[in-house]
Amino acid sequence: MTGFRIDRRSLLVAAGGLPLMASAASAATPKAQGQPLAGKFNLPDPPKERMRWAVVGLGSFAVGQMMPGFVASSHARMTAFVSGSPDKAHDLGARYGVSKFYDYSTFDRIADDKEIDAVYIALPVALHAEYTIRAFKAGKHVLCEKPMASTVAECEAMIAAARAANRQLGIAYRVHFEPNNMDAIKRLRAGEIGDLRYFSGEAGFVANPDYPPHKWRLRKALAGGGSMYDIGIYALNAALWAVDEAPVSVSAVYSTPANDPRFKEVEGGVEWRLRFPSGISAQGASSYCWTYATRQRFFGAEGSISMDPASDYNQINTTMQHADLTPVTLRAGNPAVQFSAQIDAFCMAAAANQPHQTPGEMGLRDIRIIQAIYQSADADGQIVRL
Ligand code: NDP
Repeated sequence: MTGFRIDRRSLLVAAGGLPLMASAASAATPKAQGQPLAGKFNLPDPPKERMRWAVVGLGSFAVGQMMPGFVASSHARMTAFVSGSPDKAHDLGARYGVSKFYDYSTFDRIADDKEIDAVYIALPVALHAEYTIRAFKAGKHVLCEKPMASTVAECEAMIAAARAANRQLGIAYRVHFEPNNMDAIKRLRAGEIGDLRYFSGEAGFVANPDYPPHKWRLRKALAGGGSMYDIGIYALNAALWAVDEAPVSVSAVYSTPANDPRFKEVEGGVEWRLRFPSGISAQGASSYCWTYATRQRFFGAEGSISMDPASDYNQINTTMQHADLTPVTLRAGNPAVQFSAQIDAFCMAAAANQPHQTPGEMGLRDIRIIQAIYQSADADGQIVRL
């Protein structure tokens, strides 16, 4: 990690759990009012002192969302691309000032590359474990896309590899760094809707078998699972974040359209219900057959919070209601900061040798529960104890 520096002020911001750009924005407010600047704000690291990243897999999400996130980050810069498509890699290299290139067969040579501190993995799910473990063997930190891996055994091997290498493993649950989702959870914890009693969440889109990023999602060998792995995981992860208890049981049923040729290998939809020790229940649904939707609702004894969309890249709509049923619109910040905020939080955690806020253990937990969801759905909704 030569050349990567972290200042104390940045760590204070990290400890407060605030997304960096949001904290910078809040620091701007007193200045606008003619007040002295508060001490809690973030200055970008000079480019040479930032954590240096290799991006692995230059697909639609990495290129469309994460590369702009790296550019907007305060503590990261991209130094290498790993790709099976050299022309694309060089085009992107010219755009982003990246001049080091590897392919999947030369990947292990990153071990000797002093210009790479960390690796961001945005490959099809079935490749996550292999490249994560190879990156740890090369001595790098890893931020791996969700879902963590195809199987529980792969997730456990990734965590073991991180420990053996004494490097940090984060799973890219970007919503944990999205200001409106963070605000909703903060309000829940502060009791603004009373005790949480029930959660519901739906997430889906229409899978197009001719669109390359969807093609591998319909093949179990590359995707690990179906809609629940890819998009349903958002509602599941949100439920677990909100309830903050280990669930005791799950039941689920498939909702895949009959005879749809897209779903020979993975489910087209699944509906699930979790029960928690305190009596709270959560339910959700995921689908590859609906119009695009990401929605979640938290019901408390004294009010409710609804988010629709809840986990979009650029748009989150949140309302809170109490017994008088008047919806109050909540706006906590620009959702688009979630990508850079996630990257910065990872950089700061890794530099401090602290676990990332959404670590491998969270990814493993979610894959374990999704496997139980499939087990229940395979048995027509039989309850599975967790
Ligand atoms: P894409 O298909 O667009 O990108 C995947 C990339 O992986 C390809 O472009 C290719 O890059 C590389 N690749 C290597 N081997 C294969 C292979 N056998 N088949 C297909 N691609 C291969 O997918 P996405 O960008 O949509 O998804 C990538 C990852 O990001 C997944 O893990 C997904 O779950 C996650 N994701 C996360 C989101 C989030 O909000 N956090 C949103 C969307 C996706 P190259 O040509 O450079 O080798």
